[in-house]
Amino acid sequence: MPASHQHFLEYAPAPESTAILNLKKDYGLFIDGEFVPGHGTPFATISPATEKHIAQIANANAADVDTAVAAARRAYEKTWSKLSGADRGKYLFRIARLVQERARELAVAESLDNGKPIKESRDVDIPLVAAWFFYYAGWADKLDYAGLGAAPRALGVAAQVIPWNFPLLMLAWKIAPALAAGNTVVLKPAETTPLSALLFAEILQQADLPAGVVNILTGAGDTGQALVQHPDVNKVAFTGSTAVGRAIAKSVAGTGKKLTLELGGKAANIVFDDAPIDQAVEGIVNGIFFNQGHVCCAGSRLLVQENIHEEVVDRLKQRLSTLRLGDPLDKNTDIGAINSREQLERIRELSDIGEAEGAERWTADCAIPENGFWFAPTIFDNVSTSSRIAREEIFGPVLSVLTFRTPAEAISKANNTPYGLSAGIWSDKGSKILAVADELKAGVIWANTFNRFDPSSPFGGYKESGYGREGGRHGLAAYLTNAPPDREAGATTLVPAERRAPQGRGRAK
Ligand code: NAP
Ligand code: MG
Repeated sequence: MPASHQHFLEYAPAPESTAILNLKKDYGLFIDGEFVPGHGTPFATISPATEKHIAQIANANAADVDTAVAAARRAYEKTWSKLSGADRGKYLFRIARLVQERARELAVAESLDNGKPIKESRDVDIPLVAAWFFYYAGWADKLDYAGLGAAPRALGVAAQVIPWNFPLLMLAWKIAPALAAGNTVVLKPAETTPLSALLFAEILQQADLPAGVVNILTGAGDTGQALVQHPDVNKVAFTGSTAVGRAIAKSVAGTGKKLTLELGGKAANIVFDDAPIDQAVEGIVNGIFFNQGHVCCAGSRLLVQENIHEEVVDRLKQRLSTLRLGDPLDKNTDIGAINSREQLERIRELSDIGEAEGAERWTADCAIPENGFWFAPTIFDNVSTSSRIAREEIFGPVLSVLTFRTPAEAISKANNTPYGLSAGIWSDKGSKILAVADELKAGVIWANTFNRFDPSSPFGGYKESGYGREGGRHGLAAYLTNAPPDREAGATTLVPAERRAPQGRGRAK
């Protein structure tokens, strides 16, 4: 649609109703199966689209962390490690079904608290949350066949810290494999997006999950720090920034705790001149403007072959001019709110630096609502490889465009980054896609698509993007061990009978 026609095609507002939500004014910590008061100073969670107060949230201090870890330890020893894999699986299936039953409510809560468009939380986040629990439910009684040795066993108590960009989905990525593998959990959601994790705690009560198997501690960075440093946790799983990941790696070093880190990214999305251009343009948009660009694996660096550079950038600008920015709860919204004032400041600062460094800035012409945190879709063209906006993660709706002439140049530019989480390749030629993919240093590579997730597919990075994999069979490895119990720091239980290698099968590798 030409931009000039837009005025004639106004959409009527189509807001999703919040009447389905049955929120409490105050939320406690979820410890040992109950909501209990926290001992830190409570804080408010707000809607980033309106800056309106949603609910008051308890803040866990070090003593609360201690209580929660003790509850998880008891649950591990007395209940969870005594259950058969099939029985653990039943709980996970039940959780998955409850997520589906309450899907609309969870989607509304997620969009309200995070600012992401309802069509994304409704069609992507929440369905994937259910899919993750269904997938790992299926593994719970098949761990001996996961290719991780004959009788792998759980690690014990897992401390999990997650970010604000996919609040409930990151929770699912952490909790589903941990429980399937037989661990118990203490999880801290991000300070700005605690709501869906608290609704999830209600789902755990509905599912009759034994008390203490999952504990949810709301709070800020210091709560996360106390949790990952707690001496009685056996496993630390973190998703967030590289800076915090590095600090956690240091604090965990030498303790015997197993660690996985899912950190930032600066993915190259490579478009060759033989690519189907319309499809590629949609893929570029999905790659960087999905979830306001608050995506660790976002295609934030467009590498486009020089001879189609102008055409691609023109079409991209046309397409961005049709995107609708505004109320996250409106079903027609494409671009929602930036999650926090702090994140908005970061995006503004790096964008200003990009401009100062000489890149050509273009911003979609859209009305910005008066309240809330917003950033219009932005493209930087003619970005040089050394520019900060080509190297640092902006974590917002900002695309940096660079060009290349040959596949070799595309590969070397794509790999010229401290990160290595994901990449995209657009071409009509399968052989070219495979040859280029082989050379890219990225954990996930999409071909003629972008930002696709599936619970059976491992996800994770190289270099400063972290280590370990989530998803698939590989995701189980992060929560299992083959070491004999006495050699594993903190591991206290023996292999339950049902998990010993069946007769006649080989022994552990
Ligand atoms: P962040 O500051 O690292 O926060 C992530 C989580 O860690 C939050 O729950 C945070 O609590 C907590 N935290 C902060 N300081 C901590 C500490 N010293 N010890 C333990 N926990 C601590 O990251 P962010 O800025 O909120 O999130 C954006 C970043 O996450 C981006 O860089 C993005 O690339 C990365 N990310 C990566 C992936 C992936 O899968 N690789 C996925 C999503 C996001 P508070 O929220 O209360 O500060
Ligand atoms: Mg919020």
